[in-house]
Amino acid sequence: VKRLHSAEGTEIVPRPPVVTVMGHVDHGKTSLLDALRQTSVAAREAGGITQHLGAFVVVMPSGASITFLDTPGHAAFSAMRARGAAVTDIVVLVVAADDGVMPQTLEAMSHAKAAKVPIIVAINKCDKPGANPEKVKLQLASEGLLLEEMGGDVQVIEVSALQKSGLDNLEEALLLQAEMMDLKARIDGPAQAYVVEARLDKGRGPLITTIVKAGTLTCGQHVVVGSEWGRIRAIKDMAGRLTERATPAMPVEIEGLRGLPMSGDDVIVVHSEERARMLSSGRTRKSEENRLRRKLN
Ligand code: GDP
Repeated sequence: VKRLHSAEGTEIVPRPPVVTVMGHVDHGKTSLLDALRQTSVAAREAGGITQHLGAFVVVMPSGASITFLDTPGHAAFSAMRARGAAVTDIVVLVVAADDGVMPQTLEAMSHAKAAKVPIIVAINKCDKPGANPEKVKLQLASEGLLLEEMGGDVQVIEVSALQKSGLDNLEEALLLQAEMMDLKARIDGPAQAYVVEARLDKGRGPLITTIVKAGTLTCGQHVVVGSEWGRIRAIKDMAGRLTERATPAMPVEIEGLRGLPMSGDDVIVVHSEERARMLSSGRTRKSEENRLRRKLN
């Protein structure tokens, strides 16, 4: 790994892109994520069977990796944005080749634009007899998307989630986009991270899938997550392997929280259990107050 140093001497390293799939209902977001997930590390190691953990990682033959958020649609994206924490670097805009641009296609475009996140278009269902990718391109262009083949910089890839075709082209396009964005993150120092999924496991208690934005999360650290707190007992990668630490853009599953936070919540590291309790109860009080205030208004 090529390592660079910022002015303060902090280590800055290249990091993988974090990708969200958006688009109109029934245009194939879930199918595309399923197809991409099957090309992920976890799927390869588990013989094709994978759990939904909120994120997965695809490693390309070149060794470069791509992190996909596993929650299709706008909810996850909006939740993250509402908390000022755009964890997404690139949006894959799925448009069905037979249906073309629809209301939620435009909505996704405006979300991405507002968050200043670049779009790569995946024209899906290209296997269908009624598919008309050229028409979709014209529609997108007339909505103001500057497509590459028309002299702009938005890449368009034709795929079929059903037949699993065009997926490698899509992955290559994502890596190219990431390269142009020159994504880097600070690796030293306290971690700043976000929850992409939270769930309760009978035996292991609250589990969160989290993506580090900057710094490194380490086993044993005291954390406050939203208004919950705890101490990191175990960190696993998306293939279920135990690891000591989590670095930027690699999703991990964390065990050791006392309660269940929400997706989009931030993860911060504090130096003692006492600080964790204090910050957590302060945040709980504040969110109670906000709820009351909303009720009164
Ligand atoms: P979502 O609502 O955007 O998540 O869409 P889904 O992934 O649930 O897909 C909606 C429907 O389109 C399902 O019946 C899928 O089987 C079908 N579908 C998705 N991708 C393709 C594709 O590439 N080709 C064809 N023919 N059908 C597809």
